[in-house]
Amino acid sequence: MVTILTEETKGKQARFISLRWILLAAYALTGIVPLILMASTMLHSVQGYFLEERKKELLSQANVISGQAASSNFLSDEESRKDLEEVILGTGQNNNFRVLVLDSACMVIYDTGYEEVGKTFLLPEIIEALENKDTARVQDNGTVYAAASIVGTGNSVDGVVLISDAVTDIQAKISDIAQKAYLMVGVMVLIVFLLMVVVSQVFTEPVKSVIRVVQKMSEGHFEQRAVVRTKIHNEVVDLAIACNQMADQLEKVESSRQQFVSNVSHELKTPLSSVKVLSESILLQEDVPKEMYVEFLHDINSEVDRMTAIINDLLILVKLDQKEVPLNFRETDLNEMMTGIMKRLQPLADTKEITLQWEQIKEVTAEVDEMKLSLAVSNLIDNAIKYTPKQGGVKVTLDSDHQHAFISVSDTGIGIPETEVGRIFERFYRVDKTRDRETGGTGLGLSITHATVMMHNGSIKVNSREDEGTTVLLRVPLRQSQTQNV
Ligand code: ADP
Repeated sequence: MVTILTEETKGKQARFISLRWILLAAYALTGIVPLILMASTMLHSVQGYFLEERKKELLSQANVISGQAASSNFLSDEESRKDLEEVILGTGQNNNFRVLVLDSACMVIYDTGYEEVGKTFLLPEIIEALENKDTARVQDNGTVYAAASIVGTGNSVDGVVLISDAVTDIQAKISDIAQKAYLMVGVMVLIVFLLMVVVSQVFTEPVKSVIRVVQKMSEGHFEQRAVVRTKIHNEVVDLAIACNQMADQLEKVESSRQQFVSNVSHELKTPLSSVKVLSESILLQEDVPKEMYVEFLHDINSEVDRMTAIINDLLILVKLDQKEVPLNFRETDLNEMMTGIMKRLQPLADTKEITLQWEQIKEVTAEVDEMKLSLAVSNLIDNAIKYTPKQGGVKVTLDSDHQHAFISVSDTGIGIPETEVGRIFERFYRVDKTRDRETGGTGLGLSITHATVMMHNGSIKVNSREDEGTTVLLRVPLRQSQTQNV
């Protein structure tokens, strides 16, 4: 057994990831992730804004107190300190923060919490304030320190007012907002996800249906069709339409193949039956006279000739179909080619006393496959003679314009009914089934002519009137290279 390695069996088989999951992942990346990122960025900036505001507020309060402390000589005048201490205490209690007043040696002079009086405090904010840089900062433990310098006479920094406040309220507020925001994001994610599931279903279901149909077709069920939804039009609908067109075409090919096989069998069966009947009738008789032998063998011989003709024509058609042998295009003198054909067919016309007229309107040379085109044209003239009664006429003309050669074959014969004209190029098609078979034709001649003309990028037209005659006009391009890109 020979195993043919395909791309698939050679390497590792590619993992199947449904289009649906790819779509969902794309939606998640472009929809959900930015949503979460946006929510957390917004929360972060809101928190930053609140903290900044709190820092500004505490610093301005510290400045107010430091101004009051400077004007009332808070640090040096112990007498007047009492009044201000009360004011500071009131401010601290009202705002729920702690106020400390320190001297230039960082020693606590006053503390609304009382605990730190007399102690030395060395915070970076205090140091900076002593250097006349009022500062407010949030510590990691959630406390804000705002330090403002107390500027005495001669611009000397005599001390610092420090306000310390917890930002737990801000944190509580932010976590409250965060809770609501994440709940909203969660709901939105859920809605978006459900929507995505529906949308991806809408997109992938028709594709799946097309795949199912194509798979069925590959198993030989050409009657399968994909569902085409007409409400909206998109690429998936186009895919379904294209798939159905392919199925139509395959069904047509399949039915014409079956028709062809049945026609071939039928065509070969008739002469075979005749051969059998003829040979049996000799075998079953005793003392058959010699003349009868000769007569029957003559009949058997003509039936064998008939089968050979059919098989030969079939072989020509199969070769034309397979495009196995590419046409051998050569610059050919058509006048010479046609004169040869006319000479060959003259005896056939003579047997029926048919006048064969040959008119050469122009000298024509064209790029053709001489052998194949000769056969195609011979079929036409042969038909014209075959289907014209005795003493009729057949006229053949050759003409050209600057692009094409024209060969016309007209006869004064039996003609073809209008309804049948379109079918005469079909394989084994005969207008009058019994009579036409008697004429010795295979029913394949015009199929061969048609296929040959098509391979020459030409065209063929038939005009016919019953009992009046038929004209077949064949057109082939003078140069094949001109037709390549058309
Ligand atoms: P056949 O071998 O039977 O002639 P063809 O394929 O050459 O087969 O032609 C198909 C059928 O077309 C013929 O059987 C005949 O009925 C019809 N036909 C072809 N040429 C002519 C013609 N010149 N006049 C009348 N009928 C024709």
